[in-house]
Amino acid sequence: MLKDSNKMEKIFDNTEVAFALKSFSELDRAYFLFKMIKSEPLVRIGTAVTNFALKAHLPVEQLIRASVFDHFCGGVTETDCLPTIDKMYTKNVHSILDYSVEGKEEEVQFDLALEKTLNNIDFAHKKPSIPFAVFKPTGFGKLALYQKLTEKKTLNEVEQKEWNKVVARYDKVCKSAYDKDVPLLIDAEESWMQDAADDLIEEMMVKYNKKKAIVFGTLQMYRWDRMDYLKGLYERAKKKGFLVGMKLVRGAYMEKERERAEEKGYPSPICPDKKATDDNFNAAVKYMMDNERMSLYLGTHNEESNYKLMEIAEKKGIAKDDGQLWFGQLYGMSDHITFNLAKEGYNVTKYLPYGPVRDVMPYLIRRAEENTSVAGQTNRELSLLKAERKRRKG
Ligand SMILES: Cc1cc2nc3c(=O)[nH]c(=O)nc-3n(C[C@H](O)[C@H](O)[C@H](O)COP(=O)(O)OP(=O)(O)OC[C@H]3O[C@@H](n4cnc5c(N)ncnc54)[C@H](O)[C@@H]3O)c2cc1C
Repeated sequence: MLKDSNKMEKIFDNTEVAFALKSFSELDRAYFLFKMIKSEPLVRIGTAVTNFALKAHLPVEQLIRASVFDHFCGGVTETDCLPTIDKMYTKNVHSILDYSVEGKEEEVQFDLALEKTLNNIDFAHKKPSIPFAVFKPTGFGKLALYQKLTEKKTLNEVEQKEWNKVVARYDKVCKSAYDKDVPLLIDAEESWMQDAADDLIEEMMVKYNKKKAIVFGTLQMYRWDRMDYLKGLYERAKKKGFLVGMKLVRGAYMEKERERAEEKGYPSPICPDKKATDDNFNAAVKYMMDNERMSLYLGTHNEESNYKLMEIAEKKGIAKDDGQLWFGQLYGMSDHITFNLAKEGYNVTKYLPYGPVRDVMPYLIRRAEENTSVAGQTNRELSLLKAERKRRKG
């Protein structure tokens, strides 16, 4: 096994496979971008200036497009994304169209997100290159509503009507996913709104995950309470006869979570340190793999986490292309993991965000901040890009 794991640890080092789709100038652009993102002051200033410029309607969209947007997004519309989807599929990498407009609070925007998700389910149904659809809880309803329910407060009449619409949106997309046999991932967000989303997602699992996992929730394993939640969900699933589908991630809102907990004086929901998050993440992977009838989507750029799951699957004799096991990274990050996994025959996807430039800014800022704070990963991107440039020059 040690021999095998050593062999495995070489897989992600192959930069020729990792960057096969990137031209020399694209390698250069990526290198330049990660170099900029690495600098915390630059990201802070860049974020502030960009936000100001967009609010003041200064013509910066072109600049954003040519830099961060084109690196991390597939385009403005689904159709813009098609060439990228087709190109990645030539390397056995699947795509998940992610309508990444965030922070909207009007019903008309929620209906638009619903429409986009329904279209994407349709799209996925027709295209083998797109195995999942996805949406964000706050894309379908106001954060304040989720929060009030999470805090176990009673909604007033107007709020209840709005919430009924949220429930109807979930049901509509889950039913469509079920009818078209397209698994549907539902992202996780801030802990202070997540219980309401989780309860609704479980309702959908009960209804639509009878024969296979169509509805997938998301567990952010930087939350120390998630392991207990997973165990509880699995027990309820066995009792009620539904199947669990789950995306496992570490979690993208750590700083916000800690700041809020401190400000409001409640215990932080986040694990005390990185190691505790890693242990929690590993424990959840192991639990899902040890207990039958659960479908796992592993969303991580952590090499070790990917290797670990590959090893567990191999030990258990699970085929690389088993339909209940998927790997995923975000477009523009960790190509060395995605493309090498695909080359080895694993099921692997890229989340491919799209939407109007100014509306995907919160997503882009999160990516920039994440790559600033996860310095190790940015250095890794830089050294891989450098190695590939050197390899090509011979
Ligand atoms: C396909 C995909 C889908 C995703 N979907 C979601 C989603 O629905 N919701 C969501 O929130 N995020 C989502 N993410 C983002 C994800 O949660 C992480 O932010 C990101 O992937 C970095 O974690 P990692 O496992 O890749 O890497 P790593 O570098 O191993 O881990 C970094 C992460 O570890 C945790 N961490 C870092 N320092 C500490 C510390 N001091 N104490 C405790 N924990 C710490 C944080 O979560 C941090 O983001 C998704 C990521 C992918 C690839």
